[in-house]
Amino acid sequence: MDAQIVTADAQAIGGAGGSAAAPTFLERLIEAGLLIPSGVLGLYGRSEAFEAIAESLNRMVKRLGEDHHAETLRFPPAIGQHDFETSEYLKSFPQLAGTIHSFCGDDRGHRRLLARLEDKEDWTDQQQPTGVVLTPAACYPVYPVIARRGPLPPEGKIINVMSYCYRHEPSLEPTRMQLFRQHEFVCIGSPEQIIAFREMWMGRGQAAVQALGLPMELKFELLIPVNDGLGPTACMSFNYHMDHFGALWDIRTADGGTAHTGCVGFGIERLTLALLKHHGLDPARWPQSVRDTLGGQ
Ligand code: ZN
Repeated sequence: MDAQIVTADAQAIGGAGGSAAAPTFLERLIEAGLLIPSGVLGLYGRSEAFEAIAESLNRMVKRLGEDHHAETLRFPPAIGQHDFETSEYLKSFPQLAGTIHSFCGDDRGHRRLLARLEDKEDWTDQQQPTGVVLTPAACYPVYPVIARRGPLPPEGKIINVMSYCYRHEPSLEPTRMQLFRQHEFVCIGSPEQIIAFREMWMGRGQAAVQALGLPMELKFELLIPVNDGLGPTACMSFNYHMDHFGALWDIRTADGGTAHTGCVGFGIERLTLALLKHHGLDPARWPQSVRDTLGGQ
């Protein structure tokens, strides 16, 4: 597939034959070196320029929520199988989950593995589950941690979390990666606290995207057109889980009730791609107002 992309790009750019279709957004991103193909759909390296945009977005998100005085937590992009099962993710999205398996055999098994590799046969059926699952959403590791601390303070709790997340959905749309970052504020408390939090973030998210000079539609997701000829992409989401996670992990409010939870999530890769799509592949030439909003990257 990458060979095809490179070929298509070479034709489009070189104009050889003159019949090649206009390069897709993904092809242009790869040609410009912003995304680096790995041979697997939806799995890309990022260039220094791409990361500079992503980092400014991360700083912008943090600044937007500064008044929360949130507790910042960072987790590796994996959670334990037990917490993963508790989340009930498999009930809704079994096809998106990624589990980590490793070789756990003996010397004989190792020899069998090497022989199969040598013969170009499938070797993966010897891999065993490790009890580690890739993080499906950045806020998932937060709930068990907060639950273990005991009842919440009366004002509830706001956590800032950012993580690479995994979703098994190989795609040619650059906005649908298999590994991507979500930057979230997670609010845990009473229904009133979560509803106020969500309302506030819908306003802030909209204002931020306006300042970034991007077109949008706002529902409970903030949608921005990014992909060629396809519907708009959800670049932010404003979620109220009611008492779903509070009940699953037994998170208690100060007065002993089941906590409600909500989160606002910013898709860092998707926002980076939206900026590149609408303002061009060279950030040095973006409008000054956009660069100012990002904090002078
Ligand atoms: Zn979340």
